[in-house]
Amino acid sequence: MTADRAIELTKATLSVFGVTNWIVRVEPFVEQPKHYGLTSHRRRTIFLNNIYLDDDAEMAETICHECTHVFAPGVPCEPFDDKAVVADFAAKFKIVERAFERVRK
Ligand SMILES: [Zn+2]
Repeated sequence: MTADRAIELTKATLSVFGVTNWIVRVEPFVEQPKHYGLTSHRRRTIFLNNIYLDDDAEMAETICHECTHVFAPGVPCEPFDDKAVVADFAAKFKIVERAFERVRK
């Protein structure tokens, strides 16, 4: 996906849950090149690693993961590796994706 689409999709996901005041940035991760995404509550920003943009499935999962961090400040990543939790985000993400497709048409 493009950087613009990743940003729009992330913002669309947050807005479904009433969050509209976060910044989303797609950029190279210089200090942690292998990380897919990062959520900073202090900066109210989700960062997405631009080297993974070509992989739509990974990007979608990363967007779900980082958005979940927004709603769970201070909670580490591990609970989000739980299969049930991931399935729950995936279901929510599909709703967002469908809404997003409708908006694009
Ligand atoms: Zn995480």
